[in-house]
Amino acid sequence: MFANFAASPGDPILSLQQTYAEDPRSDKVNLSIGIYHDEAGRVPQLKSVKRAQARLRSIDAPCVYQPMAGAANYRQAVQTLLFGAGHTKVTAGHVATIQTVGGSGALKVGSDLLRRHFPDAEVWISNPTWDNHAAIFEGSGFPVKRYTYFDSQTQGVDFEAMSACLRTLRRGSIVLFHPCCHNPTGADLTNAQWDRIISIVTSRGLLPFLDIAYQGFGSGVEEDCYAIRAMADADVSFLVSSSFSKTFSLYGERCGALSIVCASADEAARALSQSELAVRRNYSSPPTHGGQLVATVLLDAELKALWIREVDAMRERIAEMRRQLHDAMRVVQPGGNFRYLLKQRGMFAYTGLSADQVRALRTNSGIYLVDSGRLCIAGLNTGNIQRVAVALAAMTL
Ligand code: PMP
Repeated sequence: MFANFAASPGDPILSLQQTYAEDPRSDKVNLSIGIYHDEAGRVPQLKSVKRAQARLRSIDAPCVYQPMAGAANYRQAVQTLLFGAGHTKVTAGHVATIQTVGGSGALKVGSDLLRRHFPDAEVWISNPTWDNHAAIFEGSGFPVKRYTYFDSQTQGVDFEAMSACLRTLRRGSIVLFHPCCHNPTGADLTNAQWDRIISIVTSRGLLPFLDIAYQGFGSGVEEDCYAIRAMADADVSFLVSSSFSKTFSLYGERCGALSIVCASADEAARALSQSELAVRRNYSSPPTHGGQLVATVLLDAELKALWIREVDAMRERIAEMRRQLHDAMRVVQPGGNFRYLLKQRGMFAYTGLSADQVRALRTNSGIYLVDSGRLCIAGLNTGNIQRVAVALAAMTL
């Protein structure tokens, strides 16, 4: 039956974790996967989450199925976090939010839903983007195309080329954006540039899909939602996929959400029922525990304040690692321009190294980056940064 199955090469980032685990070198450094590590090189367990865990443990209840849309308290907490407390689109009932299996589940449910209702649409993603974006939308049957985004000369966004490209898209095209901390480049739009994107989206009749997986790792938990809130303020109809994997350090709990911002409460009720159908067809209902940890934190003023301080601390540690890597590379190579490390935001830096250079770095120094040249800043600490700086600066000599 299965003799003709070809072996899949696997996901390039996930397979690299296996290679890293098997690497016997004691001074190896993993800067490939997007997982936040603390100064001691550990994946943290947040204090706010620990406290929520203690509270939940005291609730002794059987574990029944959740509704297809997930838990009501979680869905409400997500809306407040993304749109801000008391946003009129939320209070008017124009936003349909469901709990999903991580941010990936939100993308999958959203793309299945859109494919059913807009079978002739094209999906446009940034060039480059997180690899799984193309895989998920293609998996739902969409043709996936790429809009100009990153300029390797300036190591920032080529905004003029990006907006020129968006202006040429067919009406009804679905366009995936990263509201903050672009993966893999760390190059983000300014608020003024988002305003210009909104006017293009409105005038060209595009359907934005905003994917936010790093809320709080850019400028702050509230600040990072500028694009989402500005689009809602401008009465644009759009989707948001969101993830708590990194910001709650709850990777394996698979906590995400899909929000559909509609023109009316009636439309939102129908969008909700269609998303429930898409969930039913995929996995029926989301898991319970992780969502309740997140909801317990976000719906308690004290725990939420503690969580925000913890996210702030993660963001500041990343920024400090950026500065230290930049300064250490400048010492090794005083003429080098490594300012991109300071300009780019979020967990990733886009080094501009070629796949061959990345492989050489892995073989010769045991330093693991993704083949695209993406480096996870959150894997650096004061114990490994010097070695990484020397090896990286040597690559760019
Ligand atoms: N979107 C982006 C841009 C991401 O970087 C990630 C995680 N790497 C996701 C979505 C998926 O999030 P999750 O791990 O919660 O499925």
